Amino acid sequence: MTLDLDHATMQRLGRLVADHVATHLSTLREQRLFKAIPRSQAEPLIYTPPPAQGESFETLLGFLQERVFPHHTPEPHPGFLGYVQSCPTFPAVLGDWLATGYNFFGGAWAVASGPAMLEVTVLEWFRQWIGMPEGTGGLLTSGGSTANLMALVAARHRVVGEDAGRLPRVTVYTSDQAHSSLIRAAWIAGIPRPNIRVLPSDDSFRLRPDLLRAAIHTDRQAGLIPLGVLATSGTVNTGATDPLPELAAYCRDQDLWLHVDGAYGGFAALTSRGRDALEGLGLADSVTLDPHKWLYVPFECGSLLLREPQRLRDAFEILPDYLRDLGTTGGEVNFADYGEQLSRYSRALKVWLCVQSFGTEAIGQAIDGGIGRAELAERLVRKSDRLELLSAARLGICTFRLHPKGVDDPAALDQLNLKALEQVNANGHFFISTTRIRGALALRICSCGFRTTDDDIRRLMGEIEAAAP
Ligand SMILES: *Cc1c(COP(=O)(O)O)cnc(C)c1O
Repeated sequence: MTLDLDHATMQRLGRLVADHVATHLSTLREQRLFKAIPRSQAEPLIYTPPPAQGESFETLLGFLQERVFPHHTPEPHPGFLGYVQSCPTFPAVLGDWLATGYNFFGGAWAVASGPAMLEVTVLEWFRQWIGMPEGTGGLLTSGGSTANLMALVAARHRVVGEDAGRLPRVTVYTSDQAHSSLIRAAWIAGIPRPNIRVLPSDDSFRLRPDLLRAAIHTDRQAGLIPLGVLATSGTVNTGATDPLPELAAYCRDQDLWLHVDGAYGGFAALTSRGRDALEGLGLADSVTLDPHKWLYVPFECGSLLLREPQRLRDAFEILPDYLRDLGTTGGEVNFADYGEQLSRYSRALKVWLCVQSFGTEAIGQAIDGGIGRAELAERLVRKSDRLELLSAARLGICTFRLHPKGVDDPAALDQLNLKALEQVNANGHFFISTTRIRGALALRICSCGFRTTDDDIRRLMGEIEAAAP
């Protein structure tokens, strides 16, 4: 049996898949948001030994449709409000099919200059949207976690270089609202774990510059080497943005690296409300943005932009003999020199197709819709006498809890809200999550997807209120 399929067969199979995905995406609203099944059920359902002989594609698609696909929670569903959802447009999905259909090698200009130029193009768009200076560059990554890591490695290289003896004294600073991936990035980058300063945030869940200055002063006195500040624009808990203009001025003055994790929130720069909320983002030394969140492209797609992209090359470029003929002379970019991946696919295609298909106006309106729906949720919470607001709506996120009159014991309130969450999620129309806000268990909604409507938010709030005993 040849591995090379003929044209008619490829066409037939491709159409089967296209039809299948189109049906899935156009019937999302009717689908229930399923819960996971335990391994004890999944294994007999799905595991088979690897076959010696092949099976027909139709049979295999049937197997997947029956046994695999039903057991997932569809993020692009209008009721998926639990985490920052990935809600890709269809052209973006097709972008991935094209990228893998051609199987471009995204690591070196010499073998895929067209796709490499497309990556340069979309990164240049991002730069303009968030207001970073000309000359900014970077790369598309698997996600925000990787982008945060690449930024930290570049920042570490700037202060440590070849002198590994300095590393034990290096410190970084962030707030208690920072995403876990920032902390893990610091671990992987070799910053000693006790040297990661996690500072308490202010009443609006923002990094406190006064505490930051004090901590850095103390550390310098102790002979430590502050490397930089890991700030956030759009925290996952509450959508808060740290005071970036003030942090940027301070970091410049102190020769510190300012990294801003805008993984989910950064693309709100395509809206006027978002630009206000993200003030100062363009002043950072490096910025993480996740197109697979608020730019409506499918997993996986993050990105990292650096004011001085050369710093990524300083940290990552390595030229083994067999790659020496891939050098660049006129501004061509070998993305393999800017990060940890050599073989990488072209994530630029899905980003480009998404933005080109709809334009920045329509995408900006969709993002603004998400910001507005969280604000609607906040208004409904404020109106209700059974609900209590825990953090105001910011960048599409709102947190609150059930707080019926007469129930004030913190543990009882946590219990009650956990129950409500389970009930709402069991109904199958919505998927919401919890977080902790100042110690209290909070219900959290994030309304970034473009299929969710205002009516969905009203219905969800009704379900939550009805869940209280
Ligand atoms: C999602 C997110 C991350 C992690 O990004 P991945 O793409 O999941 O790796 C980091 N920071 C923030 C603020 C996020 O929202």
